[in-house]
Amino acid sequence: MSPTLDQIRAVPKVLLHDHLDGGLRPATIVELAREVGYHDLPSTDPEILRRSMTGAARRGHLELYLEPFRHTVAVMQTAEALTRVAAECAADLAADGIVYAEVRFAPELHLDRGLTLDQVVQAVLDGFRQGSAEAGGAGAGLTVRALLTAMRTTARSLEIAELAVRYRDQGVVGFDIAGAEAGWPPSRHLDAFEYVQRENFHITIHAGEAFGLPSIWEAVQFCGAERLGHGVRIVDDITVAPDGTAELGPLATYVRDRRIPLEMCPTSNVQTGVAATIGDHPIGLLRRLLFRVTVNTDNRLMSGVTLSSELHGLAEAFGYGWADIRWLTINAMKSAFAHFDERLEIINSVIKPAFAELTAPAAPQRT
Ligand SMILES: [Zn+2]
Repeated sequence: MSPTLDQIRAVPKVLLHDHLDGGLRPATIVELAREVGYHDLPSTDPEILRRSMTGAARRGHLELYLEPFRHTVAVMQTAEALTRVAAECAADLAADGIVYAEVRFAPELHLDRGLTLDQVVQAVLDGFRQGSAEAGGAGAGLTVRALLTAMRTTARSLEIAELAVRYRDQGVVGFDIAGAEAGWPPSRHLDAFEYVQRENFHITIHAGEAFGLPSIWEAVQFCGAERLGHGVRIVDDITVAPDGTAELGPLATYVRDRRIPLEMCPTSNVQTGVAATIGDHPIGLLRRLLFRVTVNTDNRLMSGVTLSSELHGLAEAFGYGWADIRWLTINAMKSAFAHFDERLEIINSVIKPAFAELTAPAAPQRT
């Protein structure tokens, strides 16, 4: 029998690709907007606001999908607001059964009311600490780390890369670039990536979401991406014969051979028009071919998902059982930017025992 949503919520999970400004609680947006005097919200009723923000997301294009972010970003311009949003993010992830998460945000988007880049990072890290400390009492505990994102379309990537490295021992584990993909190749930000590499720090890049193989190729071969945000278009380098056998081109072969993790976000991709339905999403093929697939939320509010609902959607679409969910979860933990000993500890002490218990026969235990 395929796992239910409640059962999936109860097992330990790992999230690598989640945007802080894409996961606010609607009621918090309304309250913060009132506090800062922001009047452009489509509604001040949290439920209507939720529907309008997720509804607006389903428009088939990345650029349109990104539109509602102007409202969430507008209310995240003070240290108090950033700390609150980050603490609530941690609490919501813990409530979904997540034990390790990397949440990303773009510090340069939060400077409108005079915060410095450092103050933005400190406020968010404070919130993660508060939220995960409060969540720690209930379940298996939650570790939240931050990724700093630079915007593809601006010219601050080196500064953001330096900022990420500066906070490496205080909760930041890597550097990312995001934003409109077409026309903004990752190699525009080569100096930032080279800096991060020279500092022995970590890189993930949004690539191969709206744009094809060249973006993935540049991310991996020029920019040193250790993981790919989405990376869905790697399927353009795979030919599947009518009998189901697959032939991989050189880039797809490289990505699979090197075990480069794909931070896949199926619902988000359906909403931006990458796939028609979850069942059509390339994650089915890529999982079958044993790419290092991980499952993620991208934007919990705009996509109307949790990690549990996303895994449940895959279980329904592809018939995934516990073995698949365990595989995806361990893939994600192996691919995290936390240090090796920390990853191993969570895999061996938290994830494996929980899944072993779940799949153990109900019969009396052998002694
Ligand atoms: Zn993303």
